[in-house]
Amino acid sequence: MARSARSKKRKRSKQRVKAIAEEPFNEEPVGPLVEKYWLQRYSLFSRYDEGIKMDEEGWFSVTPENIAMNHAQRCGGGSVIDGFTGVGGNAIQFARMCYHVVAIDIDPRKVQLAYNNAKVYGVEDYIDFVIGDFFKLATSLKGDAVFLSPPWGGPAYRTVENFTLDLLKPKDGYSIFQVAQKITPNIIMFLPRNVDLQQVEELSWLSSPPLNIEIEESYVHCNLKGTTAYFGGTALGKPDVS
Ligand code: ADP
Repeated sequence: MARSARSKKRKRSKQRVKAIAEEPFNEEPVGPLVEKYWLQRYSLFSRYDEGIKMDEEGWFSVTPENIAMNHAQRCGGGSVIDGFTGVGGNAIQFARMCYHVVAIDIDPRKVQLAYNNAKVYGVEDYIDFVIGDFFKLATSLKGDAVFLSPPWGGPAYRTVENFTLDLLKPKDGYSIFQVAQKITPNIIMFLPRNVDLQQVEELSWLSSPPLNIEIEESYVHCNLKGTTAYFGGTALGKPDVS
């Protein structure tokens, strides 16, 4: 596509996101399933009371703030692509620490919520919000790091003893990782706490030569909330921004 056509398309997409973001919200009432998460609202967003908005799926899937801050410390500046941004918990912390974020979600409602939440933190201008399918967009994206917190399948992930990578949605973890690798080897994946660690380690072998990998347990207070896998430069604390 010619550069001017691409820039027109980008402008139209930005205008669409802005228009959607400014539509009035129909706030969902907090149902009994969400109540447990609502009680933890300040560990999800410390500025919750300043106007944070969520939907039911957002309550289950947003990365707690202290964990999102740890993830952001690893990106070391540059640009980050957040492939499944949800209500924006990670994108916000990346924007606070890095230079630029591309935040993608297939659901326009999620992008609306993420934009609102980024505004609460005053970082909306550092994030390009994109409504779209990460798999379709990936080949046209450039970034110094990619962050992936793909759907774990809701709270039911806890019911399996060993969460294998094929349980990730909308595609298995190997496919998601391979798509991200086309952008950069500097990949951070936030995965369930019961994820099959051997399979996560196998991901580093998908690249030749194999990528550096570091696996971290991610806690809020003393509660294990997930597993973070850092690949490539992010495993060393700083992506190779060359
Ligand atoms: P969980 O199962 O962990 O609760 P979610 O179902 O909330 O996770 O999924 C995380 C986010 O990923 C959601 O906001 C969802 O809209 C988004 N998502 C799902 N598929 C895609 C896709 N192909 N491209 C971009 N975003 C997607």
